[in-house]
Amino acid sequence: MDIQEQRTRLLAKEQELAEEIARWKQEGRDSRVAEVEDPIDTVISSESQAVALEEATRASDTLAEVRDALRRIDEGSYGTCLDCGEPIEESRLNAVPWAQYCLRDQEKRDGASEQARNSQLGTAL
Ligand SMILES: [Zn+2]
Repeated sequence: MDIQEQRTRLLAKEQELAEEIARWKQEGRDSRVAEVEDPIDTVISSESQAVALEEATRASDTLAEVRDALRRIDEGSYGTCLDCGEPIEESRLNAVPWAQYCLRDQEKRDGASEQARNSQLGTAL
């Protein structure tokens, strides 16, 4: 794996995400400005505001992971699973250069959050 290439890809992604977040934030503002007396317009605009907020949040979560990966390149710990300390699969890093966990641990975590959601649902019902 070429770590300089990964760094270049991460920097490009960082830039892309920062622009995306700025765009979504702008969108959120624009839809607020567009709010007029018409109740239907207001509903539509608060819906698109919610979508914009959600997208901005998702993008900034990814941005945090991208920046963390860049930090780990500098520290020399890039490409190591945060959980088990084993090297993350190269194919996985090629697909997701900011991956923090090996495939096995990522699946474990995905499974755990799924379970947490389900048990929350169980309590709510
Ligand atoms: Zn692992």
